[in-house]
Amino acid sequence: GAIAPFDLAEAVQVAVKWVDRGSKSGVPVTVTVDHGLTVQGNSGHVQQVVMNLVQNAMDALTDHRAPKVEVTLRRARGMALVTVQDNGPGIPEDAAARIFDPFFTTKPVGAGTGLGLSISHKIAEEHGGTLRLIPCETGTRFDLTLPLEAPR
Ligand code: ADP
Ligand code: MG
Repeated sequence: GAIAPFDLAEAVQVAVKWVDRGSKSGVPVTVTVDHGLTVQGNSGHVQQVVMNLVQNAMDALTDHRAPKVEVTLRRARGMALVTVQDNGPGIPEDAAARIFDPFFTTKPVGAGTGLGLSISHKIAEEHGGTLRLIPCETGTRFDLTLPLEAPR
């Protein structure tokens, strides 16, 4: 994929569709997107970030009685903001300090490489954006921010 302007709403929707399609979990994923948010970069890489976040959320919900993943896209503080929130167990503080480290995983051997979040963090930075774990009372939330393409 080349560097080009792309519609973030479309990238988010495609990413969620891919994860949904490959999952037998039946975890409902709601997607709420604002349209007209254009980002400059590699759309495939950004899709990969969203896929990683949604897959992690689903992985955290395997034993949940009422699992739920919410993905949103909107404009916030002049940036595009993608949030991925689940109602899973959350991330303990000691683990939270390490989740962006390469090869950090709490999943069984063979189930996780521990690379998803470190690569995702790098992709966000390569686009001039950020990927952050947001403290919340229940579950886990990640915020991905990306600079909007300047209107011409
Ligand atoms: P992997 O998914 O291969 O384990 P990641 O880099 O994607 O690697 O995630 C690293 C670790 O962060 C996971 O093993 C898990 O412990 C934690 N984690 C990430 N997302 C969530 C989430 N939504 N809920 C709970 N834990 C999470
Ligand atoms: Mg992962």
